Amino acid sequence: MTLPDALASLRDEASRTSCESWAIQNRWTLSKGRDRSGPCPKCGGSDRFSINTLKDVFNCRQCGISGQGVIKLVMLANDLEFVPACELITGRKVAEPIDYEKWERDRQLAEQRQREQAERSARERERARKGGYEIWESGAKPGFGGAVDTYLKLRALDFTSHPMIRSLHDLQLREHDYLPYAHPFKDEQTGKTVYRTIHTGPAMLAAITMANGRFGAVHRTWLDAAQPKGKVVLPIQGTVKDAPPAKKMLGTKSGGAIRLYTPRETSSWKRIVMGEGIETTLTACCHAFEHNTAYWAGADVNHMAGKALRDLNGKQVHDQPDMDDLDCFIAPDWCEELVYLGEADEPGKHQREKCIRGLRRSLRHREMARQSDPTLPPLKIIYVPPPSDGGSDLNDIAMADAGALGRGETIRDDEGA
Ligand SMILES: [Zn+2]
Repeated sequence: MTLPDALASLRDEASRTSCESWAIQNRWTLSKGRDRSGPCPKCGGSDRFSINTLKDVFNCRQCGISGQGVIKLVMLANDLEFVPACELITGRKVAEPIDYEKWERDRQLAEQRQREQAERSARERERARKGGYEIWESGAKPGFGGAVDTYLKLRALDFTSHPMIRSLHDLQLREHDYLPYAHPFKDEQTGKTVYRTIHTGPAMLAAITMANGRFGAVHRTWLDAAQPKGKVVLPIQGTVKDAPPAKKMLGTKSGGAIRLYTPRETSSWKRIVMGEGIETTLTACCHAFEHNTAYWAGADVNHMAGKALRDLNGKQVHDQPDMDDLDCFIAPDWCEELVYLGEADEPGKHQREKCIRGLRRSLRHREMARQSDPTLPPLKIIYVPPPSDGGSDLNDIAMADAGALGRGETIRDDEGA
C-alpha cells in the first residue's frame, strides 16, 4: 500500500509509540512484566486485556480486540478510522505541513524498532523450540501397560486389537515417568516471571512437527490414573480462579501438527483427519480407522483456523480466512481430503466457524496452487460436527459412536463478507 506523504509521515510518527508506552501515557492500569495485563480499554473487566511488550501485540479475551502495534490498538479500542487514530497518537493533524527531516528520522526509528522486535521474537522462539526438543528427547517410546497406555484406555482408546497399529510405537507419542511441572509466578517486586515446580509425575509427550518437517514443539499432558479422565488435577495457585491446566506446550507451532499416526506409504496417503486435541483425533483413529489416512491433531483450534478476515469496521468475520496468515495449519500438497473434527461450541468461542475458516483457507491455497501446477489434486474439505447427544467432543462418546465420521458435512467455499 503506497500512502500519500501526508498520511505516511503521520503513520511513521505514530509508529514510534509502542502499545506499552501508549498504555502508560493514558494511565491504563496494567500489571508489571513482559505480559502486562489489566482492564480492557474497550470492554473493561479486570485482567482480560494484555499487551505483550516483547512483540508489541495486544489481545482482549472478552471482546476479541487484538493485533500488533499502537495504530491498530487505537483504531480498535477507540473505534477510530486509520487517520483519526494516527492523529490521536501523534497529537498532530494530517493537514499540517510535513517536516521531511523529522519524517526520515521517524521512519528509521520505526524500522529499527520493528527489526529488533523480529530478531528478539525469533531468538525467543528458537530457545523455546530447543527446550521443547530436549523434553521430547527425554521421553521413552510408550508400550502397552505403561502410563500412556493406561491413560489412553481410561479415555476408551484401546489399541490392542487395532487393524493397523500393532504397538503404541506406531503413534508419535512418548512417555515420561517423572516430569516436573513448572508454573509461572509474578515476582511483585521486580515484575519478572519466575518458574517454580508445583508437581512432578508421569506425563504423555507429543511432538508438534512444523510444516517444513522440523521439530516445532513438545505437547505435555500430566497424567493421574486415579482421576476419572486420567489427567492430573493441580491445586489452585495464589488468587487465580482456575487451577493450572494439565496440558502445556513448549516451542513453536508454526503451521505444524501433532502427527499422531501417518501411514508409511507416502504415495498412498490422501486424507488427513484432524481434531484439536490428541484424544479427539485418536478417537477417530481408534474407532473409525480408515486406510490412507493420517491422524494429526491440530493442538489448538486457533492454529487450525488461522486469523479471521476483518470487515471494513475491523470486526472479525469468523468463518472467513485472512489469507495473509501463513503461520497456521494448511493442508500439504498430497492431501486430497481434509477433515476437521468439531468440538462443542460455547457462546463467543466460534468453534464451528473457526474450523470452517481453516478448511476454507486450505481449499483456497490449493485452488491457487493448482492454477500454476494443474497436476496437484483438488482438495475436498469436510467438517464433522461434535456429538449432539451429550459430551463436548468425539472422545466423550468414544465407544458409542464409531460411525461419527459418517456425519461429516462437505463445506462449500462461498466467499462471505
Ligand atoms: Zn475487551
